[in-house]
Amino acid sequence: ATHLVWFRNDLRVNDNLALAAACRSSEVRVIGIFLATPQQWRQHDMAPRQAEFIWQHVQGLRAALAERGIELLVREVGDFNDCAQFLKNFCEQQQVEALFYNYQYELNERQRDAAVEKALGREVVCQGFDDSVLLPPASVITGNQEMYKVFTPFSKAFIKRLHEGLPECVSAPKARGASLWEIPPLHEFDYPRQPIDESLFPIGEPQAINQLRQFCRQSAADYEQRRDFPAVDGTSRLSAYLAIGVLSPRQCLHRLLKEHPQVLDGGSGSVWLNELIWREFYRHLLVAYPKLCRHQPFISWTDKVVWRQDEAQFIAWQQGKTGFPIVDAAMRQLNTTGWMLNRLRMVAASFLVKDLLCDWRRGERYFMSQLVDGDLAANNGGWQWAASTGTDAAPYFRIFNPTTQGERFDAQGEFIRQWLPELVAVPDKYIHTPWLWAEKQQLELDYPRPIVEHKQARIATLAAYEAARKS
Ligand code: FAD
Repeated sequence: ATHLVWFRNDLRVNDNLALAAACRSSEVRVIGIFLATPQQWRQHDMAPRQAEFIWQHVQGLRAALAERGIELLVREVGDFNDCAQFLKNFCEQQQVEALFYNYQYELNERQRDAAVEKALGREVVCQGFDDSVLLPPASVITGNQEMYKVFTPFSKAFIKRLHEGLPECVSAPKARGASLWEIPPLHEFDYPRQPIDESLFPIGEPQAINQLRQFCRQSAADYEQRRDFPAVDGTSRLSAYLAIGVLSPRQCLHRLLKEHPQVLDGGSGSVWLNELIWREFYRHLLVAYPKLCRHQPFISWTDKVVWRQDEAQFIAWQQGKTGFPIVDAAMRQLNTTGWMLNRLRMVAASFLVKDLLCDWRRGERYFMSQLVDGDLAANNGGWQWAASTGTDAAPYFRIFNPTTQGERFDAQGEFIRQWLPELVAVPDKYIHTPWLWAEKQQLELDYPRPIVEHKQARIATLAAYEAARKS
């Protein structure tokens, strides 16, 4: 008999539920497949950096599986619609008896999987697994059997469930015979790839595990104090691995518990656990509210906000040329590295929506096209939070002041100067308002004046939201 493991966003051998299940019997032959879907990736605005990250990790996975006597085939189809026919033919040719895969929770992905299961019919037994979450969607619900709409009670109920029983990690499969073959070089995907700074995101599953260990040992305890400061390396930077499944959230939880045994009781490290639960919250929401995958806001009236269509302002935001140093430094970090600190994602998103009154969906798409950790649930959740269109989002009348945010979280401008070399000479006192300094010194800075006046922008945005709410 042959078991097929269909790898998607679970590019690892450790703690991979579908892979472990497929390998449970030592009698069967196990093969793996990865299907590149470049047309679909284009539709989903996947960042070329993430394509690179996937490509590299597919190679690593292929080698790790080969060592264990499992062949991973890599094939390219167009979009998700092509997967069903491809897999049907493939399973016939290879006489596959059972297909194992880990669920993805986005709408297109779920429709694809339903089509695949239908096409395979009774010939192939299909088994899906809730692998990319600590607890399956729809398993943490209110007394009324509904998904929580507010994070804090969700998080409490979530931790209660963890107290009742932890989701266990499964081991990497044992070798099934000798490591057999020469691995041919991996073909290019028909998708642009952009290099990744490997000092920020080392390539490889062992490297990801190592980074997790180091973070839990050295930094999880101070995470709460350090996480909001962009000049400090205070967060785990594991998002890129979690997004494509080089790491699992169970591995994160168990490693954290090992170093911080009181983490479920609010002890040291629990603020980091809370972030992992935010990740779960947004994933569970996608399943409860599929409209979130259809570019729709959670709060319907917010769709009536009349957005301003100022192309020049949007481009200034994208390029990091708004005249607000913290926003610009953050956007240039994003454009250069594919990553941004959570605090700055909130500031940059808030600026686009609340200062420029730009439709949040444009920002969501742009982030996706740049992020190495692009993830629909978290990105959509973050944007809807910042735009006040989501569930448990910032209320629409709470508007970040980009200058004060800079003063609070990058007081000496260390991060700003790192990304805006044109401001290197500006003294600390003026680093968040460089135009004032330039005026005083009667200098021309190679840096724009603010493209909007924050106070006025705030008033206009409040009015636009109020009008939408009343209509
Ligand atoms: P840490 O602070 O070390 O957190 C650990 C892990 O928890 C992260 O790796 C991530 O998987 C998860 N996590 C942390 N914060 C959040 C959060 N607020 N929501 C959901 N999960 C979280 N995260 C993504 O993974 N992909 C995205 O596309 C994405 N887009 C975002 C867009 C906006 C506008 C905002 C405000 C946030 C977005 N986030 C996204 C969430 C968060 O900013 C990143 O997960 C975090 O900055 C990644 O850095 P880290 O791994 O060092 O996180």
